[in-house]
Amino acid sequence: MRVSRNFVSILTFSVFLTAAFETTVSAGRYKDFKVIKTKILGVHESSVLSQLAFKSGLDFWSLPRNGKNAILLCEPQQAEEIFKELTRLELRPEILTEDVSREIAEERFKIDQINSAKLKVANWENFMTLDEINQYMDEVVANYSNIVSELEIGTTTEGRATRVLHISTGPGKPAIFINGAIHAREWIGPPVAMYAINQLTEFYDQNSAILNSVDFYIAPVVNPDGYVFSWEQDRFWRKTRSLNDLNCLGVDANRNFDWQWAPDNDMCSLVYPGTAPASEPEIQGLQSFLQEHTEITFYVDLHSFGQACL
Ligand SMILES: [Zn+2]
Repeated sequence: MRVSRNFVSILTFSVFLTAAFETTVSAGRYKDFKVIKTKILGVHESSVLSQLAFKSGLDFWSLPRNGKNAILLCEPQQAEEIFKELTRLELRPEILTEDVSREIAEERFKIDQINSAKLKVANWENFMTLDEINQYMDEVVANYSNIVSELEIGTTTEGRATRVLHISTGPGKPAIFINGAIHAREWIGPPVAMYAINQLTEFYDQNSAILNSVDFYIAPVVNPDGYVFSWEQDRFWRKTRSLNDLNCLGVDANRNFDWQWAPDNDMCSLVYPGTAPASEPEIQGLQSFLQEHTEITFYVDLHSFGQACL
């Protein structure tokens, strides 16, 4: 008994240390990074700033658009110069966050706090790790096997499966495909997709009319490598984790589909589209699946923060 207690306490301690280390790693790299917001932009202003955005490689969290504020993340060394330039352009910049690393640490603290009190795997008030998402998907497949089956539509660069749940009461219906986290850091997408799974299964009685009309294919995380990296190493990681360049890994999966694909040689860019259309295994799998399943008539790709409907 003593051995097992010691083992549990060592395990608990090591889990705590791992979590603390990961938080520090993720937050630390953003020490003193600033978030800057412009005023609400007009047509001309958004076009001028758009050109700057694409040339500079800056991380715009909210792209310049007519009638919206632009919001961007700046390294500490760049912040003063960017602030001056935005002021010169009369875009009335203001600093929203002085030290992004503190916000990352606070976010992780809140996630851990909610998790320590939770009773179920899926907690709709919190973000979820890939392990928690997979665990909930396993539970749903086991508990609702009459209407849920699982498919794997591809394997990522790091060897993870792209998991999809097919929710259906029988053949012959059109289908809706929903996915989250094609952009790794957009953590709210997976819980939204999971909530749809939850409502269609655990609350089937209230929602059976929907499933009488359509099937659903739901993939909460279509970029799992990037998603895990954003939890463990870099909170703002957006791309996949493919090895194109030793210094700049990954591709903007959202721009990698074989549809209006445009080449770009800047592998370090946050919007780097890859070496060729559908070069990423994640997109090869997703694209083939969408093409082969002609019953899919509606595709929802969940994104966050940009306040845009895509
Ligand atoms: Zn996105």
